[in-house]
Amino acid sequence: KSKRAADDLPTTSPATIAAIPHTKPAPALLRDILAAQLQQQPAADDASILVADVGHIFRQYNQWREYLPNVEPFYAVKCNSAPVILETLVCAGAGFDIASKWELDQVLAAGADPSKIIYANPYKPVSHLRHAAAAGVRLMTFDTVGELHKIRAHHPNPLLVLRVGVGTGHARIALDTVGVDPQHEARTLLLEAKRLGLDIVGVAFHVGTGCFNARAFQEAVANARLVFTTTSELGFNMTLLDEGGGFPGGPATDPCDGRDGPSFADMAAVLRDAIAREFANTSVRVIAEPGRYFVAHAYHLAVNVIGHRMHAPTSPNVLPRQHLRICDGAFSLFGPGNHPRGPYVLVKDGEMVADPERFSTQGQLFPTTCYGPTCAPIDLVVESYMLPNMQPGDWLLFDVMGAYSVSMTTGFNGFRHTPVVWTNTEAAVPARTDRPV
Ligand code: PLP
Repeated sequence: KSKRAADDLPTTSPATIAAIPHTKPAPALLRDILAAQLQQQPAADDASILVADVGHIFRQYNQWREYLPNVEPFYAVKCNSAPVILETLVCAGAGFDIASKWELDQVLAAGADPSKIIYANPYKPVSHLRHAAAAGVRLMTFDTVGELHKIRAHHPNPLLVLRVGVGTGHARIALDTVGVDPQHEARTLLLEAKRLGLDIVGVAFHVGTGCFNARAFQEAVANARLVFTTTSELGFNMTLLDEGGGFPGGPATDPCDGRDGPSFADMAAVLRDAIAREFANTSVRVIAEPGRYFVAHAYHLAVNVIGHRMHAPTSPNVLPRQHLRICDGAFSLFGPGNHPRGPYVLVKDGEMVADPERFSTQGQLFPTTCYGPTCAPIDLVVESYMLPNMQPGDWLLFDVMGAYSVSMTTGFNGFRHTPVVWTNTEAAVPARTDRPV
């Protein structure tokens, strides 16, 4: 009987994962754990394995509070809904952004408080909306008249947040199929809400996932301010600004020129300035919906090479092209939302490589394309990456593997099970004490 990928996630509470003392930076330590895991692994277990660090998530939370102390993070569950992550963030004090009744059930099971949940999907099936109402979730986004009518019919006391659009070109994936223009369309919706007697409490935006331009936040906050002005003209008293997600978990690479984009600290500085400028002398509550920021760098992947083909060069001056098949692909961990780093050589000819990043750039290298384990041509992981000659049985390493990876695994061709080994590099991770672990 096949299982869904989510069922394969460990349900271990953070309390059961003791902190490991460490003398190295967490990423190096995660590699050691991955290496040790591979050494223990029976030879027949030649698929892929993830190692994940709950300590990283906790440190990201603290970093957020340091750089954006006046912005409450509501973790976007769609990014990765592993119970360990949700429980850690509940303990740390985060809220949650949910997109469906299934995500709602997951965060409630992790102990989330319904008043710290936003249903941030502007298109809600009626049954999901009723489920949210029954659970006491009131905050929710919308961007159409139809949704306003639906919410009025199926939720007794919603707190509505208008989703406005933002400019494109600032992020790897623009979320531009949702959101209204902050002037004309916003006014029409606000008038309809007023007619229906609905309470509009705030404005939400999302600069796009994988944002690499901090200015996007500046523009978006200014747009949100326009809506606040319109609403006060119409007699609403709005109190909430929701800045969505888009924050990087590490350096945000610009896909156009490959250069490192702004860091989280840079983006936070732009945001703080924008809020101070646009919302001076107001008491607006500010929340955000970061996903990738919390989890991307928490996961490392070791993946087995299962096939190799060297394509003859087309002329004497050209290198042969290497095609590798690896055990995870575009239909499993490498879907479009995941922006991993790598590959690096982790195990070569049965030997663990001490410094994968260095090793991968030494000796004879070949332009390499890595495909996933299915025969679909779109099962593409990386293209034109220079790597040494790799053979079946060797292992590659990818890091920055926690965002939109496990949560987007489809099970196509039956490849769905990537086991996760959880670890904890942070002694301060709080333990759940209110129920047995
Ligand atoms: N909020 C909403 C409504 C989203 O659609 C998404 C991602 O698609 C997020 C938050 C999280 O974005 P990110 O992971 O880029 O922070």
